[in-house]
Amino acid sequence: MTKPQLLIIGSTNTDMVVQGATLPQPGETVTGGAFRLSPGGKGANQAVAAARAGAAVTFITALGDDALGQDSRERFTRDGIAIDYLVGKPGMATGVALIMVDASGENMISVAPGANDALTPENLVAAAPAFLDVQMLIMQLEIPLPSVQWAADYATKLGCPLLLNPAPMPPGGLPDSLLRCVQVLTPNEGELRALAPDAPTLEAAAASVLSRGPQVVVVTRGRQGAEVFTAQETFHVPAFPVAAVDTVGAGDCFTAALGVALVEAQPLRDAVRFAAAAAALSTTLRGAQEAMPSREAIERFLEAMAVAD
Ligand code: ADP
Repeated sequence: MTKPQLLIIGSTNTDMVVQGATLPQPGETVTGGAFRLSPGGKGANQAVAAARAGAAVTFITALGDDALGQDSRERFTRDGIAIDYLVGKPGMATGVALIMVDASGENMISVAPGANDALTPENLVAAAPAFLDVQMLIMQLEIPLPSVQWAADYATKLGCPLLLNPAPMPPGGLPDSLLRCVQVLTPNEGELRALAPDAPTLEAAAASVLSRGPQVVVVTRGRQGAEVFTAQETFHVPAFPVAAVDTVGAGDCFTAALGVALVEAQPLRDAVRFAAAAAALSTTLRGAQEAMPSREAIERFLEAMAVAD
């Protein structure tokens, strides 16, 4: 079988995490604790997850000309991700999240989006050839909304389906001009409610979103699994029971694996189950990109679960 051809456009960040006993107060210095550097950014997480789940991925992201940008390039290449249309931003910093965590798990996070904020529609126009011959476009919302809209419009013009993970949700929700271009939407519960604030129930919120463009809405609900809504049917896909140690990146893994399975023409229920398996596995290891499972691991896990059923 030839691999699904996916185009992913989105952010790259590096999480710099200090795990200490206490969080500093303003003006205070706290010494001690351990430092860990963890590759993140929703776009990059999804690109890595999709490549490992079996897709041929082209990733468009903006990187600064610093060491973190260089590290990111090398990691994408190691995962077999095509970065021919990557956007270099001379003089800018690659996106960084500074994260401090105390002994109880409480955290403080400061994000400097850097190059991610400078990924313009013009950059995407220059990358237009990357849209040809792909079977699906996957995006999230950690890059400027006008760029997401340009890519959505261009994909629509080419007849390329769009899978949108609407995270993080902008304060005003999403414009109808964008929702109209989306075939598959993967909000979590909070994001779905932000899209239809007046809807009294999850079902009503999903119905409202379905009436505005998407054919499929898959609402992820952590350990409670996922609810799937289409014009024809509504069904629940449970989360797989695993010993989760870190759920960072689980939503990104879910979206990416769902995209892979849908392009492979897996029936919707099977595709969501495949995504749930990949996402469950991603929670069993620390970190986001480090924890994305291989195709082989996902298939082995699904087989083991089928035997257990
Ligand atoms: P987000 O981080 O975007 O809010 P969720 O927390 O809803 O995403 O997680 C996405 C998917 O990952 C869930 O629908 C589920 O299939 C899987 N998942 C998340 N947390 C767990 C967990 N603790 N155990 C098993 N699967 C999980």
